[in-house]
Order: sequence, then C-alpha cells, then structure tokens
Amino acid sequence: MVALAQGTGTQRIVNAMSFDVEDYFHVSVFDGVVSRSTWDAMESRVCRNTERLLDTFDEFKVQGTFFVLGWVAERYPHLVREIARRGHEVASHGYGHRLVYDQTPDAFRDDVRRAKATIEDAAGCAVTGYRAPSFSITLRSLWALDILIEEGHSYDASIFPIRHDRYGIPSAPRRPFSCQRAAGSLTEVPGSTVRLASVNLPVGGGGYFRILPYEWTRWGIARLNQAEQQAAVFYLHPWEIDPEQPRLPAGWLGRFRHYRHLAQTEGRLRRLLTDFDFGTIGALLSAQPHLTPTDRLIPLTLPCVW
Ligand SMILES: [Zn+2]
Repeated sequence: MVALAQGTGTQRIVNAMSFDVEDYFHVSVFDGVVSRSTWDAMESRVCRNTERLLDTFDEFKVQGTFFVLGWVAERYPHLVREIARRGHEVASHGYGHRLVYDQTPDAFRDDVRRAKATIEDAAGCAVTGYRAPSFSITLRSLWALDILIEEGHSYDASIFPIRHDRYGIPSAPRRPFSCQRAAGSLTEVPGSTVRLASVNLPVGGGGYFRILPYEWTRWGIARLNQAEQQAAVFYLHPWEIDPEQPRLPAGWLGRFRHYRHLAQTEGRLRRLLTDFDFGTIGALLSAQPHLTPTDRLIPLTLPCVW
C-alpha cells in the first residue's frame, strides 16, 4: 500500500520529495576541476538556495527529505537545524562527496560515520537514511550496503535501476525493496523510472527533470501513480534552482548536464508541487511496512524482497 491524500473527490498517491543538500562546486562533474582544498575558499550558495526551497515548501505545505552533505552540516549547522525545525526529514549524503566505488570500504565507513554524527549533532535528531553521491552504489560497490547497516542506517536511496555512464543497476527492482545482507537488512529506495519496451527510463528528477520537457516528468509520475499505483521518489539539488551560480569549467557533456535550464527549474518545481502530492521518504516507507517477496533478484549476491 502507498499513502493516499484526499484530493477533490479522488484520492491521490503521496510521492516522495527529496533534495541532496550540497553546493554547486561539490558536484561530481567538477571532480578534477575544483580541488577539495579550495572548497572553503569558494563562494557558498547552499544556504540561500536551501532556504529558498524551504520557503517554497512552506508555501505549498509540503515536507520532504533532505540528504545533507556532512561537509555542509559541519560549516552551516544552523541550516540543518532549520530544515529539521520546519518538519522535514534530515538524512545523510555522506561527508566528502566521494563516489562510493572510488573508495575503500574503510574510507567509506569513515565518511558515512563522520557524516551521520555531524548531521545528527546539527539537526538534533537521529539520521537513518542515506543517499550516495551520484547514486554510486553499483554492482561493484554493493559492500557499501553492509557498512550502512553496521553504521545505523535503515534505508538507502543510492541504487538507480537504469543504465548510465556513472551509476545504475538496470536489473534492480523499480519499487522500494528490502535487501537481506550479511550485516542485516536495509530498505532500498530506488530512483523512479517508467518501463518502456523493456527499458527503464528515469522520471525521478535531477537532470532528467531540468533538461527534458516538464511534460516528461508529469507523464512519468502520473503513469507510476495511476497505472502502477506506485509513489514516485523525486530528487533535486539546491544549486538546480540557482541560475546565478558561478560558472566552472568542465567538458561539454558536464556543462550541459549541470547548467541546462537552471533558470526554469524553480518554476517547474512549483508546477510539480501543484500537480502532485509529496511527503518524506520516511513517510512513504512507513505507509508500506510489509514488503512482499519477489523472485526478481539483482545479482545472486543481493537477495531482496519488495
Ligand atoms: Zn551530491
């Protein structure tokens, strides 16, 4: 079952709204362009952009899940407190925005442990959700799920069931599912897709929301809600509503992915908040506590039910 909201005579599915709270210079496309040692010297815009989003959500009476980068929480704890104070769910985006599959397990453990402690200190509440930088839990970094369990996380939102040059497990289930690992169990919350001609196509936000026409997202979420009775898990970043952000050098594909349609994104988000109902990922999972078994496995090393 998914959560339902009372509409005008009909019930609408409550989708999940989420943000990865990071600055424009943290984005993986700028790895190798912006040295980590210069992050503190860069103009930070994450607070003003996130506060703008918080005001928008207040206006629409919507609550969402904010996956905060530990680096941000350490420098701007008041921002994390404000996110929590306004009733949103605070979760972890890791500490240093390093791709999971580029880290050793020990380095990853240090990163998620430091992030969780820093964000919890700032928020004043427990953090149990995690999303990896650039969805970088893939078939070669599934060991990260065991570490997330051992470090006290109850759900992960890092596996995108699509083909992409940097991330994705195309065979992963398209709905939230439970992973049984050696370290215990973890609920996985995949990025949203629609399935056409045996191919999973992303409709869950980010560049797909910003670069493609709005109608693509609206059609995709409506299809999930109506044809599949499935809630969408939408994601965006504060820098995606900031057309004035400083321009950084990158390859043409990176520049296209990062800068395309920045000026239109806030208007599209407001349209989205009008067209659909949204809540937190935590609320979405609470509404479906019993995930039913399936015979669809990701790889044989990752038994799961959904
Ligand atoms: Zn990120």
